[in-house]
Amino acid sequence: MLDDFVRQAVKNIKDYTPGGSSPGAIKLASNENPFGPSPKALEAISKAAPRLHVYPDQKSIELREALAKKLKLSEDNIIIGNGSDEIMQLASATFLRPGEEVIIPAHTFSLYETFTHLFDGRPVIVDLKDNEQELEAMAQAITPKTKMIFLCNPHNPTGTMISKAKLEAFLSRVPKNVLVIIDEAYVEFVDSKDFPDTLPLVKERENILVLRTFSKYYGLAGLRIGYGIASPELIKYMFRVKPPFNVNRLAQAGALAALEDDLFLEKTYKNNIEQRNFLYQELDKLGLEYEKTQSNFIFMEVKQSADEIFLQMLKAGIIIRPLTSFGLPYAIRVSIGTREQNERFIQALTQLLK
Ligand SMILES: *Cc1c(COP(=O)(O)O)cnc(C)c1O
Repeated sequence: MLDDFVRQAVKNIKDYTPGGSSPGAIKLASNENPFGPSPKALEAISKAAPRLHVYPDQKSIELREALAKKLKLSEDNIIIGNGSDEIMQLASATFLRPGEEVIIPAHTFSLYETFTHLFDGRPVIVDLKDNEQELEAMAQAITPKTKMIFLCNPHNPTGTMISKAKLEAFLSRVPKNVLVIIDEAYVEFVDSKDFPDTLPLVKERENILVLRTFSKYYGLAGLRIGYGIASPELIKYMFRVKPPFNVNRLAQAGALAALEDDLFLEKTYKNNIEQRNFLYQELDKLGLEYEKTQSNFIFMEVKQSADEIFLQMLKAGIIIRPLTSFGLPYAIRVSIGTREQNERFIQALTQLLK
């Protein structure tokens, strides 16, 4: 009976493959903050807890005002979601008609395709070139049926970025009735001068939606809160679709406090750059191939079964991400941890390669 009962769109969706976890192991699989949650967020969450019997603010006004101030935008440009995942879903629900095409890079974050299927859209997958999203090919993939384009910048899982010049050239080729969704989940870790500042673009163009999250840099992946930035028009329509109380009271309070947690944020950024360089140096010594990253993880081609490496590393107490579910069975992604975690990772990898 169920076979017939379930929408075909749902049958087209692949189950989500999360990063592994195991008690006591060092988890370098999901790009979480190695220092734990923002301490200021924890404090604010305790303070907010006694009011848990009261529904949260359905518009997340305080948080949107704080973000607007920080990003030099208006709160009308911002929508908060139960993770930025939810904003992707809201955008698809708000804009996508059945049969419309959605251009998605190959080997990327799986939810772009999931939400495209969910709303009966047609994913059009464009291959990467040298581990980068190839904007030329993506522009050529645009047809009269194209409705949305997902870009991930920096790109998960390869860590590469789309430069300002390339993004601008690409956007000038995208018709006004195609929405470009730019997922910037890792933007806070970027150190390249050529990285595009997309916030001014949101003021100039009605067809851009930028996604950001509190899950990585702010250390709040378990709290579930992220946001979308776009023209007030787009935001207004997405508000209609959003469940009124999608962002819980603790998440709103925690995120608001985390935004101001300068000490924690500086420590996070500094560690990431230092430890990235440490890992480069150690991987060079081992003669391994990896991609230079603009993010808090490193992509490595391992030339042997990534699933096997995952199992071997797990035995050594380290969880890495095999990229089999990204369609890359010979590649792994490793989150950049603390110095101690990274040393343990390198030790285990050295053993394994012997
Ligand atoms: C981690 C991640 C997100 C964040 O999702 P949340 O729902 O905000 O936790 C979004 N996009 C990409 C590419 C990611 O890697």
